[in-house]
Amino acid sequence: MEDQEKVIQIAGSITVDELANELGLSVTSLIGELFKQGIVATINQRLDFDTASLIIEELGISGVKIEKKNTATKTSDIRHELSDHAVERPPVVAVMGHVDHGKTTLLDTLLNKKTVEAEAGGITQHISAYQLEHEGRKITFLDTPGHEAFAAIRQHGAMLTDIVVIVVAADDGVKPQTVEAIKFAQSANAKIIVAINKIDREGADIPRTMADLSQHGLQPEEWGGDITMVPISAKMNQNLDKLLDMILLTADLEELKADVDIPAEGLVIESHMEVGKGSVVNLLVTGGELKTGEFIVAGSAYAKVRTMADFRGKPKGKATPSTPVTITGFKELPNFGDRFIECPDEKTARKQALLNAQGESDALASSNVTSGDLLRMMNVADNSKMFNVIIKGDVLGSVTSVVDSLKMIDTHGEVTLNIVSTGVGDITENDVYMAAGDNTVIYGFNVSVPTNISKMAARDGVSIRNYKVIYELLDDAKSSMEDLLDAETVEEEVGEMKIKGVFRTERTSIIAGGEVLTGKAAATIPSPTGAGVDLPVYGRVYRNKELIGEVQVDSVQKEKIAVNELVAGETGGIAFKLDKKVVIELDDRVKFFTRELRKKKL
Ligand code: GDP
Repeated sequence: MEDQEKVIQIAGSITVDELANELGLSVTSLIGELFKQGIVATINQRLDFDTASLIIEELGISGVKIEKKNTATKTSDIRHELSDHAVERPPVVAVMGHVDHGKTTLLDTLLNKKTVEAEAGGITQHISAYQLEHEGRKITFLDTPGHEAFAAIRQHGAMLTDIVVIVVAADDGVKPQTVEAIKFAQSANAKIIVAINKIDREGADIPRTMADLSQHGLQPEEWGGDITMVPISAKMNQNLDKLLDMILLTADLEELKADVDIPAEGLVIESHMEVGKGSVVNLLVTGGELKTGEFIVAGSAYAKVRTMADFRGKPKGKATPSTPVTITGFKELPNFGDRFIECPDEKTARKQALLNAQGESDALASSNVTSGDLLRMMNVADNSKMFNVIIKGDVLGSVTSVVDSLKMIDTHGEVTLNIVSTGVGDITENDVYMAAGDNTVIYGFNVSVPTNISKMAARDGVSIRNYKVIYELLDDAKSSMEDLLDAETVEEEVGEMKIKGVFRTERTSIIAGGEVLTGKAAATIPSPTGAGVDLPVYGRVYRNKELIGEVQVDSVQKEKIAVNELVAGETGGIAFKLDKKVVIELDDRVKFFTRELRKKKL
């Protein structure tokens, strides 16, 4: 019996309380043990399978084995092999590119051009997906708050874009977010089409933009490559039909299909609460047909589809694959990026939602720890640099995007991101209370900050940072995290000299002569950080490869005249600051370098 291992079965995740019970430890001693490992855990904190295994290993508990309990299929795992009667479906297209290169204008122009029947006043509400018709065929466009949002969707295990249209302004060329978009499309295995935009502009240079793109791995078809590039003007509505033609052509080559005679399934692409309607959720159907009155489950939330509308708000009874729809009827808000699936009846939907809830190790809030978080925490446990944040966003999707994107900032394990809380809606008094005294930053994304709240924050020394552009928010977070890093000492090589004679030792210096072999010899070098400071130059003295000591250059001479520097090949004299411990001799080699304390970058 003694040899028998105790088996703990974990269905997705386990709370600290449950784990303590299983291990026969008191909750406080488990929390205490975790604390020693640098993990601050609460009794109800959920730990995923990997984390629980790691903890058991770290705590050196023997005779215990943990196993993943097989729950019913998690909805997020569902994928289908297509049957032979799968039907053609519209392509799902995302438009990405550098800020100001014209993504919004392109989408707006297409929308106005192709959806003339849209009601007067057009679409004012933020929509995350819509469908156009071109040549009698449908194309689904996804509008995204940023690439990070996409990365977040990808993290949630979904592959939803068939084609990425990368918008590049012909008068600006490839920029950092263009490169990101290319990387994203490649990693998501999506087909790329480039829209070279703003060709109406005076500075537009199509060949140069193409050359720029080919430098980044996108070879234009015209030049024998495989990337379709369409010159357009989103603003002047030029060549947009050609772009749509190319999207359809690409879709044809991809043979995009889906089964319709299976239970409906797809993805949650947006969700928020609305007064009078309750939950309003945007879904993209990827398989089957979704109809009003059906039951669906997404993560731990389920719904009876009460109303369903297309992106213009027009009621719709049935949605086929690649169709974006807005539905009501979810009892609680599902998460952005969650997969949904139809269930035969309410009982099954509820049961599946519960199973998913147990299995969910969704890392939205820090109350759920994943093994990645854990490792990070362990690494920083000693010098525990915490960046505490509260995140508020206009809709759940943006909160999730911000959280996921923040988590993707790689701090090389040196800073721990601590998400104190997240929520949908404006910044409130409670947020400020929570942030006060704890160096917690409140990030708002597309929300407002009432005047009394900003006053309260100012009084309590709480920083509220409100953004409309996700990149700006992320940049701010990144630089705040950088501020938490210790400065590091950076050495840079300056040159090497061979000593050809030691002339004399003065009161404060030793004067030697030699030849510069590489680089240069100088007493000071301007800091390469561009900070406008001159850095002293030091030298490491080597004799037959053995390090003798370190000296500092005092001045440099050439033919007895003081000069700023001697360059490779030149011979001259160097005065080193006198250091009695380091005696310089004939044939020694001195390697010059600068040393600077620099702020670390992430
Ligand atoms: P986004 O940040 O990529 O969504 O870029 P926007 O669509 O907001 O466009 C940024 C600016 O470029 C706006 O002032 C647009 O009017 C302008 N713009 C977009 N497309 C074109 C175009 O084809 N021609 C010209 N001349 N301006 C454009």
